[in-house]
Amino acid sequence: RKAALQALKGTVTQTKDGRTIPLLANVGCISEINHLADVGAEGVGLFRTEFLFMNNHELPDENRQYQLYCDALQLLDGKPLTIRSMDLGADKEVPALAMDSEENPALGLRGVRYTLAHPKLFSAQLRAILRAANHGPIRLMFPMVNQIEELEAVLTLLEQCKQELMEEEKGFGELELGIVVETPAAVFNLDSMLPLLDFVSIGTNDLTQYTMAADRANPLLIDQYPVLSPVIIRLIAQIIEQAKAAKVRVSMCGELASNPGAAPLLVGLGLEEFSVNLASLLEVKQALSRWSYPDCVELARRALQVSRIDALNHLLTHCHS
Ligand code: PEP
Ligand code: MG
Repeated sequence: RKAALQALKGTVTQTKDGRTIPLLANVGCISEINHLADVGAEGVGLFRTEFLFMNNHELPDENRQYQLYCDALQLLDGKPLTIRSMDLGADKEVPALAMDSEENPALGLRGVRYTLAHPKLFSAQLRAILRAANHGPIRLMFPMVNQIEELEAVLTLLEQCKQELMEEEKGFGELELGIVVETPAAVFNLDSMLPLLDFVSIGTNDLTQYTMAADRANPLLIDQYPVLSPVIIRLIAQIIEQAKAAKVRVSMCGELASNPGAAPLLVGLGLEEFSVNLASLLEVKQALSRWSYPDCVELARRALQVSRIDALNHLLTHCHS
């Protein structure tokens, strides 16, 4: 079984009838990028940059970050690097920042809410990313964007950083821009934001937490709120449909993308790209190779008609192409 998986590592990811689907990797540090080749990942689809801040007693400044992003690009050798701007707050605490304690941190100052409130910290990261983009393909995405005002504020800051760099005669490159769609508000406000975006990435971990009003870290809730449920499937379908209508690329970086059992369903819903954990990548690739695209579409059609979690699970475990 292991040998069959290993044999897939040098092959492109395709459905049985030859539809290719890029599988990128989720990483939390630079050294993980060394392992992309072990599984044949086609780039980094989520670089969780807050780990640069969480694991350090000292915050990495602009130059240090620039160096780190350049190192990452060099290891990727032309493959895309998707950087998520630091998603601080909630479950991602940073000792070096002395953040205020909040009663409901998951509903508090986190993601772009935090970085927009700390423009110096945010600008240092944006400048480092812009400068690194001179050396390779960078996609930049922003976490916890709910509405157009937040996206505009982020883009304004990014423009200011470009202006500064220009005045300082420092080189920088163009970025592809995206958001992590991870709140119900973002789903329902997507139409207004899509014209400003090159891509969106679906963050199912937080999307599930905020849709169900269920703390993702609470072990008491794990059985009631599985990662795959009819309402999440419907939200995903809605995101993909809107993104496609606006010709914006749609990827998924939440844990659901790393679930081999869900992969054919996600392709059937129209997902164009996955970002998965390195440990699951070959299994997702294998799962997709066993399904034809029309069968994925039929599976998705049936899944969208189901209203019970157990019926959805039954469909996914008993429906084979
Ligand atoms: C998500 O919310 O699905 C996601 C990818 O981000 P994180 O798990 O880092 O919050
Ligand atoms: Mg998230």
